[in-house]
Amino acid sequence: LKTICITIAAISFFKVNSFADEIISSEKPKTVNVNQYINIIEKLDSKDLVKAPKIKLNPINTTPMGYESAVFVLGQLRTGYKNHVENNFAEALKVYDNLLASKRLPEYMKNFILRQKPLAEVKKVPMSPKDYFTLIDSTKDSYLLLTYSTEGLIIDSSNYKFKELADSAAFSILKQSLSNQKSGRYNEAFKGYNTIANNVLLETRHTNRAKELKVLADKGIFKPLGGMVIVLDAGHNYGGNVGAHGNGYGETELNMEIVQKLKVQLEAQGARIVLTRSPGEKRYDDSSVELPRRAAMANKSQADLFISIHHDSSTSSSASGSSAFYSSYKNGVNNSSAYVLVENGTYLYTSSNNSTRAGYVQPGQTLNYIGQAPDGFMVNYNGRNLFISNEHSMIFNTAPSFQSILSRDLATKTSAYLSTGIGTKNRGIGDRNLYVTKNTNMASILVEIGFISNYSEITKISKPSYQLKAANEITRAIIAIYGA
Ligand SMILES: [Zn+2]
Repeated sequence: LKTICITIAAISFFKVNSFADEIISSEKPKTVNVNQYINIIEKLDSKDLVKAPKIKLNPINTTPMGYESAVFVLGQLRTGYKNHVENNFAEALKVYDNLLASKRLPEYMKNFILRQKPLAEVKKVPMSPKDYFTLIDSTKDSYLLLTYSTEGLIIDSSNYKFKELADSAAFSILKQSLSNQKSGRYNEAFKGYNTIANNVLLETRHTNRAKELKVLADKGIFKPLGGMVIVLDAGHNYGGNVGAHGNGYGETELNMEIVQKLKVQLEAQGARIVLTRSPGEKRYDDSSVELPRRAAMANKSQADLFISIHHDSSTSSSASGSSAFYSSYKNGVNNSSAYVLVENGTYLYTSSNNSTRAGYVQPGQTLNYIGQAPDGFMVNYNGRNLFISNEHSMIFNTAPSFQSILSRDLATKTSAYLSTGIGTKNRGIGDRNLYVTKNTNMASILVEIGFISNYSEITKISKPSYQLKAANEITRAIIAIYGA
């Protein structure tokens, strides 16, 4: 690691509660590495910008700015671009030049100005989202994809396609960086972690993970799931949401036993775990209360991943095996290519006010999805907006979000690994509108470990040794997708 000498003026009244505080309050010059140096600068930026000049450093001007400053600059950038769009070329140039004068401007913001400014100089309109999509189509490099999609988000922060591209590019860069760190290529690893950590336009789950991976890398620690927040959901409870029972076993308890073992293993790999219910906690709410609570908990925690653990059941006592489910359709993410499929019969649909019989939908018919409604959703059929109930239909997405694709990949690996690890039949994966996978905005899967209704299967897989194996296989699947 490159080291930089910095001399710091003593600021003795700082409370010492972190390494950065320790450096700031130190009376003697300290030698820190690039990563620690960036942490200190970020800290000063967010606390008090006037203290920054008290730090003498070499080389100068290589530091990205802190979060607050970057958010401020983003506002300025948008003002400059808006002026540019409105043909206020002189105003736009003034803003662009002011920002360029800042020597600590993050690379992605500087690139944006350097693409727009020459156009303003010759009184031409700035690059549009369409122009950025042309650039994006011409590259497969993760860093360039991130650059272009981030610049697209500077122009249009609500553009779903830019968000998707930035989401997938950030994910690949973090994975690449983990691989680099694992092979000892620390400079490359830090480049990736810093790129993600300093980009204020990315999902918090990525910036938070990058910041934590930086801290770990700085200490020379490699954890494949470092910085990840994983929500573990032991399916069901003790009340109106009771799961499968049979052969002397209850799903509510078995699911928790797996979750506890999984928690220990995932934490050992660097993940931070959030539980939707705790061991010993007895919740009695029915699923209409319990499931929305669990999904909301995951969405609020900025989690990278949500995993719901279950045990299967069937009226046939010979049914057996492991499986995993995901949703290509996620209610809170991208629904632009969603459609509704009506299954298993001919079902009545009604008009939008739910009072007039409007006609019938044939089995297997697909309908254009409009949006969610209580207990169902709205579709467009022959130019009319109609209500369809959840009961006999499914929503799919032909262009699933990046988080849905991750969910599908993780489901595939989880089911296969589990089957091999605990000797169950691999029943594979399924795209389902399960409440928790459909309503969580991050990658999410629901795992069925095995069948409670199959006596020989449940007596085997409920043994602590098999539960440990199951937890180990799920952990391996997560590392295969999120680690290096
Ligand atoms: Zn269940």
